[in-house]
Amino acid sequence: MATAHANIQALTAARFEMPAKFTQFCENGGQPLGGYIGGQSVPGSMNATFETVDPGSLDVLARVCEMGEAEVDRAVTAAQAAFAGNGVNGWRDFPVDERCELVMKLVELADRDRDVLLACEIHDGGKVSELAEGDVDQIRACAEYFCDVARRIPLGDGPSMDVADGVRGFTYREPWGVVAGIIPWNYPIVLTSWFMFPALLAGNCIIIKPAEDTPLSALYLAKLAEEAGFPPGVINVLPGRGELTGQAIAEHPGIRYISFTGSPGVGQHILRTCDRHGTRMKREMGGNGAAIVLDDADPEVVARMIGRHANQHFGQTCCTIHRVFVDQKIADDFIDAERHFFENLKIGYQAEEGTQLGAVINPTQMSRVLKAQSETVARGGQPVVAGGPAEVPGRKGFYVKPALYRTQPGVQCNPQEVFHTFATICPVSSAEQALELANSTPYGLGASVWTKDVDRGIALAKQLRDGTCQVNCHNSIAYGLPYGGQGISGGPGAGVNCEDTFRDYTQVKAVYVSEYPEA
Ligand code: NDP
Repeated sequence: MATAHANIQALTAARFEMPAKFTQFCENGGQPLGGYIGGQSVPGSMNATFETVDPGSLDVLARVCEMGEAEVDRAVTAAQAAFAGNGVNGWRDFPVDERCELVMKLVELADRDRDVLLACEIHDGGKVSELAEGDVDQIRACAEYFCDVARRIPLGDGPSMDVADGVRGFTYREPWGVVAGIIPWNYPIVLTSWFMFPALLAGNCIIIKPAEDTPLSALYLAKLAEEAGFPPGVINVLPGRGELTGQAIAEHPGIRYISFTGSPGVGQHILRTCDRHGTRMKREMGGNGAAIVLDDADPEVVARMIGRHANQHFGQTCCTIHRVFVDQKIADDFIDAERHFFENLKIGYQAEEGTQLGAVINPTQMSRVLKAQSETVARGGQPVVAGGPAEVPGRKGFYVKPALYRTQPGVQCNPQEVFHTFATICPVSSAEQALELANSTPYGLGASVWTKDVDRGIALAKQLRDGTCQVNCHNSIAYGLPYGGQGISGGPGAGVNCEDTFRDYTQVKAVYVSEYPEA
């Protein structure tokens, strides 16, 4: 039994050697990597560049050109031109099969250069290989799913109905035109795929704004898209800072729709900006995930499962578990098992064999996490695993130890998303109390119930105020089911990865047609 428990492990690194093709891409013949606009690499009119680094070693991977207002405008113009073509051959006019063919060609090239994309996730994004492999798989999975959806959900005219004598009406569904995806640093390839495939397949031309910390995969995908034969202007990539490049995207009235993934504060700010000029916006934002452990659960097995999920990408996962509510009958055993799991996570460089907890993405994030740890104690959390900065011999990255606290009902010691391997465990007297506490947050992204009694678990899970409610699993994602947030974690619209996501990338008009009036 002890061996079976031990098999439930944190995601772990295999040793990863940086492929020569990745190094060559980053070196770019000695020139900084440009943005990608209208089928061309663009240095940017500001002559500004920034470095993207490996967060576990602080090695500079590449210099990247920052795109400003002028480049945003240029990208919008290029995308508008590609959308419309000369009136008949724009991206909006491509038959769905041709769009699918190009998308799947891009996927084949991504498969061919899988090691380069893995290097982007592992070195630029700071991931362990076990997670990065799964992330790169999402390119194909997402593309195939949305090709299927695009073939099944027709755009254009809906069924016609008689609305009055001599008057008929029907709907007309069409792509928005130019849409932008603003992407965070924690899952660059996954979130770029989740944005780009439904948006493109619905007939939009796109602008991708990758996070400043992780621009490489989007730029590499743009290179592959060019090789695949996408017409210039259909896909554009604008690297740069959020407050500059991202803000200019939010302010541009030529962008009809924005898909934002990131923190609630930034999402709310962009929403206000977009609202001023009528750009629609979809937001997928952070969470403060809860897990409820019922009295029949095996404390050791479930502690290990929850530890594994809480540590996915070192807790830098939007739906990660930060708050655990465990029945008091098993609380001591559970806390002890979780302490053991957290204390035994192997902290190290993310590209080195065996690492389970690597560096956080940047110094700002590191100080945020450390601040959240000390505030948790100040608010009444009792440290079980103390957290604090970590040292990894021979590495200069942003390393932080995991943190675990015991708390009690009524002590709100972790009101916000921390975004690290961090959890509070609160013993509770009943499942109802656990549910009430789990729901007592403005976030609502993902939560789970852990119990041998699956029916009881389902009944409780349905009462969670979250977009994703789970029984005996967490961090769950499947194409065909919506992944989105309630409360400040997201909205409006369907979330991602379902048929309604595809519809979100289109707009619907009502068309009325009356017979010509007799004189
Ligand atoms: P941020 O909100 O800081 O940034 C997200 C993106 O917005 C980045 O590209 C950023 O640019 C950009 N940005 C920042 N300011 C502006 C602005 N004024 N105008 C336009 N764009 C701007 O989030 P993080 O990158 O820190 O990502 C972590 C957050 O994302 C967490 O809250 C996490 O939970 C959430 N998330 C949610 C997911 C979901 O599906 N619900 C999935 C993954 C993450 P730059 O970084 O270059 O400054």
